[in-house]
Amino acid sequence: MELKLFNTMDRRLETFKPLTPGEVRMYTCGPTVYNYAHIGNFRAYMFEDLLHRVLAYFGYRVIQVMNLTDVDDKTIRDSRAQHLALKEFTAKYIEAFFADLKTLNITPAAVYPAATDHIGEMIRLIQTLIDKGYAYQAEDRCIYFSIDKFPSYGRLARIDRENQRSGVRIKNDEYAKDAVADFALWKAWDDNDGEVAWDSPWGKGRPGWHIECSAMAMKYLGPTFDIHTGGIDNMFPHHEDEIAQSECANGCQYVNYWLHCAHLMVNGEKMSKSAGNFFTLRDLLAKGYSGREVRYVLLGAHYRKKLNFTFEALDQARETLKKFDALFVRLKAVTRPGDGKECGELLADADAAFRTALADDLNIAEATAAVFLLQRGANSQLDSGNLSQAGAQKLLAQFRNFDEVLGFFRVDEAVEAVIPPAIAALAEQRLAAKKARNFAEADALREQLKAAGWLVEDIPGGFRLKMLD
Ligand code: AMP
Ligand code: ZN
Repeated sequence: MELKLFNTMDRRLETFKPLTPGEVRMYTCGPTVYNYAHIGNFRAYMFEDLLHRVLAYFGYRVIQVMNLTDVDDKTIRDSRAQHLALKEFTAKYIEAFFADLKTLNITPAAVYPAATDHIGEMIRLIQTLIDKGYAYQAEDRCIYFSIDKFPSYGRLARIDRENQRSGVRIKNDEYAKDAVADFALWKAWDDNDGEVAWDSPWGKGRPGWHIECSAMAMKYLGPTFDIHTGGIDNMFPHHEDEIAQSECANGCQYVNYWLHCAHLMVNGEKMSKSAGNFFTLRDLLAKGYSGREVRYVLLGAHYRKKLNFTFEALDQARETLKKFDALFVRLKAVTRPGDGKECGELLADADAAFRTALADDLNIAEATAAVFLLQRGANSQLDSGNLSQAGAQKLLAQFRNFDEVLGFFRVDEAVEAVIPPAIAALAEQRLAAKKARNFAEADALREQLKAAGWLVEDIPGGFRLKMLD
């Protein structure tokens, strides 16, 4: 099936064709490890995980690189404020980041290169840019990229040449579009950098943020690779600057497909550290939510649409996932003989709808609709009493298959824990009492279940247990 992706460079859907058949090389801008990542950041990593999983689902071998920005303006500022060595300061947040990725069931990248381990590569790349005439040392001893030497500068972010101020220099890692100017590749050491410095041909200093990603992407993926991703706020200046550096140094196209995700919002505002309207994953876990509930919420909208974060959405996710858990338990209990053909059409429809949706620029809303279609179909087959064990197993296999992309189901693990054996035993006793027309005992057992937090419902051929709120 053809996979269509929205390429930010051309602002249109394009059929994905990798450089090497069957293989995708992809770079994702990773976290700046100066604090715990918030769930807005994780929306970006979740989108990248979805992309990774969909590519794998469609049969590609995915080589994903995600860097760790462990030296930049913010890491230096905050490590100094806490009187910690840079490495010591960032180590804590790197460890937390990996723990969070695990909690959210985000597929690991092939490599997580840290910027401080690649200073040599960055220096060599800057030297190439100087040698080729694209970069220069200014009076402040910093090295800058000269944007007027690269005629297509501004193409990704659509900035007209008239608005570009070549010769004017900007040293900060982060700046807005109206400040577009020559940007720093190497920053000469100053007092604010404290202990953080490396030797270079241009004196003691440290790399700018943008050159870090160019150097690491090139090292692990080559001068041209398939996909580069990030949050939409990375598009300018970060990605624009990466393109300029890499294409000028290597003389070839840097990236074939640029993909950017929209922001996670809170009450109409972007979730961000600076706005103070953020939740870390830890905040949510402390409130009793699980990683898979957060995962469900973060996958709740198309990646190019803004997603509003609410606690209602998390509660809703809990209810939805509980219903799936209960469905899997019921499916596992089916023992009726048969060949499973009764599910054939339902399975084919849901599978086709799921694939078609994902191939259309990762349309997760439509893909989830296909999953709900299967859920409804499975429940009604269970309720009708016509479902065979073979059919139930096929349905379970289809949910497992969907979960290769979704990653929030528990088709197998922990499913037994959903209905405790003692509760199931009580429900069985009640069913037996009813069949023996011993209604007083059946009612007493129903009350006993209720007291334990479970509602038992009669359905053709058996019962269904629901957890009471
Ligand atoms: P940073 O650690 O600030 O470099 O950000 C890491 C990633 O998170 C980048 O790809 C950002 O674009 C992304 N990001 C930051 N805030 C949000 C948000 N509210 N919604 C989605 N992505 C975000
Ligand atoms: Zn980057």
